[in-house]
Amino acid sequence: MPAARIVLWVTSVAGLALLARSALLDPVPMWVALGAFVGYAALCTTGVLVPQLQMFGDVEWRGEPGAKAVALTFDDGPNPKTTRKVLEILARGGHKATFFVVGKKALAHADVVREIHAAGHEIGVHGHVHDRLYSLKPPKYVAEDIARAQRAVEQACGLCPTLFRPPVGYLSSRTAAGAKRAGVRTVAWSARGLDGIGPTDPDPVFSRIEKRLIDGAIVLMHDAAERDDFEPASVEILPRLLEELADRGLAAVTVSELLDGAKSA
Ligand SMILES: [Zn+2]
Repeated sequence: MPAARIVLWVTSVAGLALLARSALLDPVPMWVALGAFVGYAALCTTGVLVPQLQMFGDVEWRGEPGAKAVALTFDDGPNPKTTRKVLEILARGGHKATFFVVGKKALAHADVVREIHAAGHEIGVHGHVHDRLYSLKPPKYVAEDIARAQRAVEQACGLCPTLFRPPVGYLSSRTAAGAKRAGVRTVAWSARGLDGIGPTDPDPVFSRIEKRLIDGAIVLMHDAAERDDFEPASVEILPRLLEELADRGLAAVTVSELLDGAKSA
């Protein structure tokens, strides 16, 4: 069990014990109660913001080193213009990647979904509408939202994705429960360029990724902007990144290939 989940369990039990003690014996001093509450809230918030801790559920965020491979992943598409640019760059060297698509965009651009699939890349889902408050939504909402996005991809290319990346990347206990209910595997990242928020200078995006470009890395990039209102810097840095991978003797594979060593469907 991940260390963060053990810490969560231990602190939860300690908190309940403190409550029981206050109810049955003497109330604890206010500063102790307040300190415990603030500490517990900070712990849970950290767990939500850092999915790699796996505090609330199992998360894949890197592969085992040894395969000399990394998984490049692209969020927030498909977009007819920018996704096709990414596909064209990847095709030049026969590189494979994983696209976490937004269900609503997959419905609108089914032809692009088919092109991703036909090129041999893997497709995961990234929510149906890219809800920014996803981590606050109940498990039922999350499971239904994932299922809608899965249906959108299936309608487009006949494949039902089993990988899921939460919108915005946060993983609350509710999101984890919803993903479990939907039967999908949650995927985070070990490197990211932070280019999805707005137009950015490509150099810092490249150097953020390059620092963590190691054997087994899962790299989070964007093939489209959330609102399709700019071209993410990932598109511009991709040729440079692929050169860097070649220099380091690393292959670009899909997430499933990286994690399971198998060719993805
Ligand atoms: Zn996103």
